Amino acid sequence: MTTGAISLREVSKTYGRRIPAVNRVSLDIDPGEFLVLLGPSGCGKSTLLRLIAGLESTTSGEVWLDGQPAGDLPPAARNIAMVFQSSALYPAMTGAQNIGFPLRLDRMTDAESRPRVDWAAQLLGVTELLGRRPGQMSGGERQRVAIGRAVVRAPSAFLLDEPLSSLDAKLRNQLRVEIARLTRELGTTTVYVTHDQSEAMSLGDRVAVLRDGVLQQADTPRELYRMPANVFVAAFVGVPRINLLAGTVLAPLDGSIFVDLGRQRLPLPHPLPPDHQLLRIQQHRPLLIGVRAEDVRIAGPERAGPHEVALRGVVEQVEYQGHETLVHLGIGAQPAVVPALEAPRFMPRARRTAPNGALQTTLARWYGRREEPDAPPPPVPARPVGDLVVRAEAGMNPLVGDRMPVLLNTRRLFVFDDQGRRLCPAPAGGAQLFG
Ligand code: ADP
Repeated sequence: MTTGAISLREVSKTYGRRIPAVNRVSLDIDPGEFLVLLGPSGCGKSTLLRLIAGLESTTSGEVWLDGQPAGDLPPAARNIAMVFQSSALYPAMTGAQNIGFPLRLDRMTDAESRPRVDWAAQLLGVTELLGRRPGQMSGGERQRVAIGRAVVRAPSAFLLDEPLSSLDAKLRNQLRVEIARLTRELGTTTVYVTHDQSEAMSLGDRVAVLRDGVLQQADTPRELYRMPANVFVAAFVGVPRINLLAGTVLAPLDGSIFVDLGRQRLPLPHPLPPDHQLLRIQQHRPLLIGVRAEDVRIAGPERAGPHEVALRGVVEQVEYQGHETLVHLGIGAQPAVVPALEAPRFMPRARRTAPNGALQTTLARWYGRREEPDAPPPPVPARPVGDLVVRAEAGMNPLVGDRMPVLLNTRRLFVFDDQGRRLCPAPAGGAQLFG
């Protein structure tokens, strides 16, 4: 069996007698790969990182490092360096002493370690901080020094646990670019934990998405976006979030096939593409239709494309973003609620429109939050938001209340079953459809 630089084999971790924080995760991380662990808070990312570092022991399963079972190897023997969200530097030490600390643990003298400290400082652009103490550094500078301390011993792997989340947005973006450059230059295997999908997508060679301790999908950012394995991954990856509409497939005897969205029908191509054939046998079942904002466009005077179908919409909200405008349209559909991922403003409308009860219960279970049947309804927002978010050119200036026909690319539809699994595109035909 081939093994990566870091291999997780059916790794589980349960604290006490609770549900597992990490549940049978298997993953091979290649030498030099930058792998991101992505998922919402509490999904087990940090626990998995600590299991790799040896700071926790597995309840079952094995961690292998460089082709060897790590077993009970203590953290110090694993030649792994960790950086945390707010890395604790030693306040009484200078930047140089902090960076050189791992080398001192290796019994190097200051004179011996100095060239490596200088090298690491140069790599991180913190040479001018070598003489300063942490109290005289900004948050970003402290985090750079902490990364320098991780780099200095040339470990076989870096484990980074939300290293940027305590920084402001500008610094976060800057350091993110630097981390990408640094790890590429060093070629060191890196596992990076974040709950921020844009950080994950921009940094990872591959991104492993976790939910409730279970690995959902590990793939390149491109594949995660193009072929999400389930509705959770589809909804977690991508901004704006994928449009998710509750619908039912109907195929009357006249040979047509469409999705009933409530007040409108979405005609499907005839014949159905090979990777959407499964839809025929899903008739009358509650399904989730996923469509990304870029696969819907506001209809113009030109003819619709061969795979485009028209829907009627009314503008309910407009988000001006500078380079583009996001238009929220009401199309009379039932927006699917994805509780753990939902911004609160999306919730009340979904409740008001009382979408398919069974589907919502399943989704609530899927996303770990139970909706109490007797719970008081959340407050109705002052401004309702639409069912469908569409990307429009920045020059467009639609007004709330405008009627706006849209064209939806039916070749780009995702269909998920009521368990959240992707039905279409079916795995085998996916590549050709989206090629
Ligand atoms: P994440 O890093 O994705 O936010 P964690 O790995 O920190 O998630 O936590 C996963 C789950 O395990 C959570 O439910 C958390 O409460 C639980 N957990 C983590 N560490 C401990 C611990 N030391 N003792 C008990 N429960 C823990």
